[in-house]
Amino acid sequence: MITSLIVLSSFGQTLAHKDSINVNEPIIKVTLLGTGTPQPIIERFGPSILVQAGGQTLLFDAGRGCLQRLNQIGQSYDKINALFFTHLHSDHIVGLPDLWLTGWLISRRKVPLNIFGPVGTADMIKYLQMAYAFDIKIREEDDKASEEGGKLVVKEIQQGSIYDEGGVKVIAFEVDHYPVVPAFGYRIEYNGHSAVLSGDTRYSENLIKFAKGTDLLIHEVAIAPDTLSKSDSRYNILAHHTTPEQTARVFNAVRPKLAAYSHIVKLYGGTEQEILKRAQANYSGPVIMGEDLMSFSISDIVSVNAWQKK
Ligand SMILES: [Zn+2]
Ligand SMILES: [Zn+2]
Repeated sequence: MITSLIVLSSFGQTLAHKDSINVNEPIIKVTLLGTGTPQPIIERFGPSILVQAGGQTLLFDAGRGCLQRLNQIGQSYDKINALFFTHLHSDHIVGLPDLWLTGWLISRRKVPLNIFGPVGTADMIKYLQMAYAFDIKIREEDDKASEEGGKLVVKEIQQGSIYDEGGVKVIAFEVDHYPVVPAFGYRIEYNGHSAVLSGDTRYSENLIKFAKGTDLLIHEVAIAPDTLSKSDSRYNILAHHTTPEQTARVFNAVRPKLAAYSHIVKLYGGTEQEILKRAQANYSGPVIMGEDLMSFSISDIVSVNAWQKK
């Protein structure tokens, strides 16, 4: 059920607040399944974003709990056309065994899942298949699970257009998450509209280049006290991500219809309110703090749908 609906049109302008649905049929729908980080908190599951357009159902990253979040919105694993990894940090991949094996068992999927990711993805999948070989064999023999449905087909990617099905294009672009190389963000295009997902990155000029003109920019963010010193063991966490002020620079350059935060890193007591305050001091366009199961409908306008339990 959708309750609070914020309707946004062109840059910086809020059109209306409504308590109803169907302002416009979405051309692209984006759902934040998990907006968290490695922190094992119940409010923000691991990073994972669902994008639906043109009959394609695409998943970006498979963080902790992504299958449970999919189940909450009634999205069956067997309807997912492809999975895209931004990079191989564990918070973005630990949900895969559950998604894949439990999803296969429950949904009775009958076709392989296509997986796209950086170099190293093929090895990871090969070893996961070995690690779970006992379960895979017994599910096929005992539970009569489809052999094809349990397969994972991997393609390691480089920057550029990597997927084109049903008019939906996915473009991978390199971001700066050094020393994690390569790490990708994604631009998803359909019918003249687009959404861009930053993945994990520090301030990235390449992201700005690929995100230009997008309707919706989902960007990561990290916050820490100004006093955090370089000798602090967590300094590198901040250094591998983007501060609120830096995201404001990105948003000012990209000028999306709507910017939203996901993958929210909070060090030493930083808060969501502080992130928004620091960003909005440097950026006057629409920006919103993402929540798990918040969704966005992109048509000629971008609307935000807060999740409410049925
Ligand atoms: Zn991460
Ligand atoms: Zn990362």
